[in-house]
Amino acid sequence: MNLAQLLVRAARSYPERPAVLWGADVIRNYQQLAERSARVASHLSHTLGLQAGDRVALYMSNHVDYLEFLYAAWWAGLVVVPVNAKLHAKEVLFILEDAQASALFVTADLAADLKPLLPRVSSLRGVFTPGEPECADLQDAAPILAVHRAPDDLAWLFYTSGTTGRPKGVMQTHRNLYAMTSCYFSDVDSVEVDDALVYAAPMSHGAGMYNFAFVARAARHVVPASGGFDPAELVVLSQQLGNLCLFAAPTMVKRLVEYIQSVGAPVDGFKTIVYGGGPMYVEDIQSALKTMGPRFVQIYGQGESPMTITALSRQHLADQSHPQWVHRIASVGHAQTLVEVRVVNEAGDALPDGETGEIVVRGEPVMSAYWCDPEATAKALRDGWLWTGDMGAMDANGFLTLKDRSKDVIISGGSNIYPREVEEVLLCHPAVHEVSVIGQPDAEWGEVVVAFVVGQGLDAQTLDALCLEHIARFKRPKIYRFVESLPKNNYGKVLKTVLREQLNKE
Ligand code: AMP
Repeated sequence: MNLAQLLVRAARSYPERPAVLWGADVIRNYQQLAERSARVASHLSHTLGLQAGDRVALYMSNHVDYLEFLYAAWWAGLVVVPVNAKLHAKEVLFILEDAQASALFVTADLAADLKPLLPRVSSLRGVFTPGEPECADLQDAAPILAVHRAPDDLAWLFYTSGTTGRPKGVMQTHRNLYAMTSCYFSDVDSVEVDDALVYAAPMSHGAGMYNFAFVARAARHVVPASGGFDPAELVVLSQQLGNLCLFAAPTMVKRLVEYIQSVGAPVDGFKTIVYGGGPMYVEDIQSALKTMGPRFVQIYGQGESPMTITALSRQHLADQSHPQWVHRIASVGHAQTLVEVRVVNEAGDALPDGETGEIVVRGEPVMSAYWCDPEATAKALRDGWLWTGDMGAMDANGFLTLKDRSKDVIISGGSNIYPREVEEVLLCHPAVHEVSVIGQPDAEWGEVVVAFVVGQGLDAQTLDALCLEHIARFKRPKIYRFVESLPKNNYGKVLKTVLREQLNKE
């Protein structure tokens, strides 16, 4: 059940197939990738003496060696701790200490700030930076066979991005990640050998988790030369490689679509764009579908059930003739195959269709626990259900519509207001670029609605008139703040907590 078996099999069946590309250039085929991983595994186990279950951290910008180190760790029976490359060195230090990491792979761009802090991590036995001699030495070890791992052995210790508080380590087993991969095939997309997965988003997060489905099919893994998201580069790659697939946050989809519209770029080299991780507004997905055609699939997940709570299929997104189309594309789709999803009240009772409550999920991809945090685990996992902290409502056909994080719901004059609904309306105005709606404490109403708006030449009166056209009066923002930009976390999610703090300070 070791995830490394995916690579073992791909290399045995299709040794010559291109595995890792840097831009359009093939760097390694499957045989080379597997052999290099087996050598690194050998070094970790035999030279460093790491034992099965020890933790290996990857603090790396997107890099052609990422998959090699990832699979090397599993090959040796170790646990991967993927660390977001955008974190500050001190935040990384917290993760390394909390996870008690025994080895660290860090790219040169991130090493300088972190290395002076590393003597504080007493568990560390080896630090490797691609391009430096100790990393080249890893290839001197004789390859070993991938060790056996039981399905419930820990594979991946993923620290949640968190918009508040300190990050928690989500424990994902080999079984969890196999289940997640299986859901990719059943609910997201098929993968063919000619497909190319491009890592336009960080490999430490959702984009990287999709590697499994593409290794399983011996398909291509592309690290863009820019290392990240550049719409012009993606269009060029799509033309050079064809069948380009990617995972993108909604803001990336919007930027890609705007770029394609502005230059009239061809779209036939793109196969599938999976989006998720944050709300995709109806206006934006309509424009994306119009520009790029039926190339989109949406997923809703969270670190605790990675990429696997619901999916909105390509077919549903494209089925414009359906009377419920607009409602459906505003939803996050159906429960994925290996999970059950419910909307419940505070006591955990399932609510009738259409009623809003907290979303809970159970099934194969759901985490086993938070690392060394029984209190947080007991709060998140109750009677086998993961409480997501997201609010939503399910319709009679099982389409789930997300409202907001439970803590973001605004209660004004006793009525619940879901910021997303107000944001959707404001975004209909062509001059509104980004928006975030929060509640401000108010003596009379409990809370009042405040909208932070990024855009040009706007005024409160115009936006108020727009709201009056579309939503109930009590949901309209009472205060508008026109700002240059919105505060975001390292994954590009708007930090409503920071906006609230700004208001409280005034
Ligand atoms: P993370 O654990 O950092 O991946 O964040 C997960 C959170 O992102 C979820 O609990 C949701 O609040 C949000 N999220 C994920 N996918 C979607 C989606 N498709 N639409 C709206 N919000 C999403």
